Amino acid sequence: MTIEDLLNTVKQNNPQADLELVRRAYDFAEAAHQGQLRVSGEPYITHPLATAQILAEMRLDTTIIVAGLLHDVPEDTPVTLAEVKKNFGEDVASIIAGITKLGKIKYRGVTRYLENLRKMFLAFAKDIRIILVKFADRLHNLQTLGALPEKKRYRIALESLEIYAPIAARLGMGEMRGRLEDASFKYTQPEDYQWVERLERETYRQKEEALEKIKKLTLQEFGAAGLKVQKIQTRVKHLYSLYKKLLIHEKDVSKVHDLMALRVIVDDIADCYAALGVVHKLWRPIKGRIKDYIAQPKPNGYQSLHTTVFCPVDKDVLTVEFQIRTQQMHEDAEYGIAAHWHYTERGSKIPSRYVTWVKELAGLQKEMLAELKLKDIETLKIDVFQNRIFVFTPKGDVLDLPENATPIDFAYAVHTEIGNKCAGARINDQLVGLDTTLKNGDIVEIIIDKNRQGPSPDWLKFSHTHMARTQIKAHARSPLTSWLKNRIKKR
Ligand code: MN
Repeated sequence: MTIEDLLNTVKQNNPQADLELVRRAYDFAEAAHQGQLRVSGEPYITHPLATAQILAEMRLDTTIIVAGLLHDVPEDTPVTLAEVKKNFGEDVASIIAGITKLGKIKYRGVTRYLENLRKMFLAFAKDIRIILVKFADRLHNLQTLGALPEKKRYRIALESLEIYAPIAARLGMGEMRGRLEDASFKYTQPEDYQWVERLERETYRQKEEALEKIKKLTLQEFGAAGLKVQKIQTRVKHLYSLYKKLLIHEKDVSKVHDLMALRVIVDDIADCYAALGVVHKLWRPIKGRIKDYIAQPKPNGYQSLHTTVFCPVDKDVLTVEFQIRTQQMHEDAEYGIAAHWHYTERGSKIPSRYVTWVKELAGLQKEMLAELKLKDIETLKIDVFQNRIFVFTPKGDVLDLPENATPIDFAYAVHTEIGNKCAGARINDQLVGLDTTLKNGDIVEIIIDKNRQGPSPDWLKFSHTHMARTQIKAHARSPLTSWLKNRIKKR
């Protein structure tokens, strides 16, 4: 690809974009990297250019695209960050400074994993745009891994699968997650990758014609119902996600109900339900496969209507999943937090579920990552990467907790003292045990015992957040903790 391709993508997404600025950044980067080659033998500039292209395809603004073009300049060329700043301003320079700091990590094994996490979280706390550029940078490096020695290939792919993809997922960036996972999967499990790739390709090839007919018939029916549909398109499932599904179903592809999926984009929520009605009138739905993620979003905020239907065409019967959503739901699902930096600003703030998580990470890394031990990694992974639920305080404040959280985790998330003095809990007005698993949307009230001296070590059996576990352990560690003293007094 060339700079002209990049400029075309930028222009397509945003006719008002400052194309001269993008071209100037390209010329600057090209001059700086002059004479440098990638391991593959290509001129180095191909890498920043491809990175910028990925960012442009995500419809991000020119500041981020310019940062993508210049991201390796201060680290790999004689041109300094100060010169970048002089030419492209403070904002671009500060993003690039963040990427440079993420830079090269020399540790091995667990230490490397932790150091990676620590740096990612530091970058997060500073400016999410750093992570967006880093994702694009890593994605292009993965796509060109073939040129590297096998050992290095495997390490980079595994690291991307274990750290980058889960973070993308956590930030709602479904498309980026899928691309990172697929590009890594190819090198972490080459044989399985080949198998799934062929399976998907052949299935789609066989069903392509039928799928086109189904699309056409459905569109006609939408038209007859007077329903305006923006788009209906085939969704090709990401390979790694298909692979994980296949493993659940004993590698039996006939049990994967969403392999064939059609995505329908409509104007508003009312049209989503109207479209569902049309689909069900035309095709017979499979029982138990209708999901209303609009009324009840997934914990990660995902919204759409899903239904799997039987489509008899040409003596064959296809099972097809329809995913019906508005344009905004579609962008949230594909781009997540990145949608905030789209050209077409919706005037919306970054959704609070991301802000809370990012803040939490910033706190986490300060407090613990420096002295983290191997056994802590599991709780850390739960805190950072697990699916989240959203629960409410009686006053209506929202808390974001991992999926298996209990009232103890909730209490410590509200305040350390609430945790330490926790004596019981009510979920949706029902008195429950402290080991009860909370569900999305629960209203949780903690009952406090003002005289309580501290947490019970038993709580470790059913607390899951790092916050709660650290507090409980801190109290349990010394035999002279106030908690024990209190117990002795009671005897
Ligand atoms: Mn790079």
